[in-house]
Amino acid sequence: MPSIKIEIDPHSGFCFGVVKAVEAAEIELKNNGALYCLGDIVHNNMEMKRLQNQGLVSINKQDLKTLKSKKILIRAHGEPPSTYLKAKENNHTVIDATCPVVLKLQNRIKKSYLSLKEKNGQVIIYGKSGHAEVVGLLGQTNNEAIIIESINEVSKIDLNKPTHLYAQTTKSIDEFREIATYLTENINKEVEFKSFDTICRQVANRLPRIMLFAQKHDIIVFVGGKKSSNAQMLFNKCLEYNKSSYFVSDVSQLDENWFTPRPQSIGISGATSTPPWLMQQVAAQIEIITKSK
Ligand code: SF4
Repeated sequence: MPSIKIEIDPHSGFCFGVVKAVEAAEIELKNNGALYCLGDIVHNNMEMKRLQNQGLVSINKQDLKTLKSKKILIRAHGEPPSTYLKAKENNHTVIDATCPVVLKLQNRIKKSYLSLKEKNGQVIIYGKSGHAEVVGLLGQTNNEAIIIESINEVSKIDLNKPTHLYAQTTKSIDEFREIATYLTENINKEVEFKSFDTICRQVANRLPRIMLFAQKHDIIVFVGGKKSSNAQMLFNKCLEYNKSSYFVSDVSQLDENWFTPRPQSIGISGATSTPPWLMQQVAAQIEIITKSK
């Protein structure tokens, strides 16, 4: 009987922003054995556990105020200026692993804010209110930017003011375009309007690729953290294109029944927060399960 083909999606797993942040943490942990990270470095419990075993401690903004003179890692999502200020006040050493893509976006938003301030204009951020990246972006505008979560919230925008539109890096390109088109058509023609598509292609490019990957295999096992919105979005795409798609957070959640009747090929994919070692573990376990089939 021919063996079952098991393929790990070559376009899945950590994006380069997360790779960079995890590497920065590992170097520090290796050299000093202790590091505090503001929020979870990655939305994946298994990877968090691995790093916690090496000495990583997740803290929140309140802890940042009470702790003194610690090494604090800023994760890929970035932080607002107030965080850097608080870290300085409490004599913390900041290890800044803000993703370069996010850092560039923060700087652009800050520039827009300063130039529009003189013209009584407004910065609009299409993003999820309260999301760590958005909090960091909002901080560049003295918390004055207007956040819209979807096209349904465009009524928050004053159509008579000079406007610059930006997007959180992980939002939908299609909806961003819809919002930009709405503003182009409806904003007062006398005022300045500029839109900047700042959606990260590391995420956006995965959608068309995962559709093809999902169709290529009989069964898809998607590996991701329950808290990761990127994992949910990519898994839903898998399901749309392959009804035999299953979500697991670790090997213990694999179910033998998924592999009966015996498939010819199994694809394994994951989110931008899924560590490659975890997908390899899942692949190895599936190989054991399916050997007896
Ligand atoms: S998704 Fe893009 S912007 Fe976000 S951390 Fe990864 S590379 Fe950076």
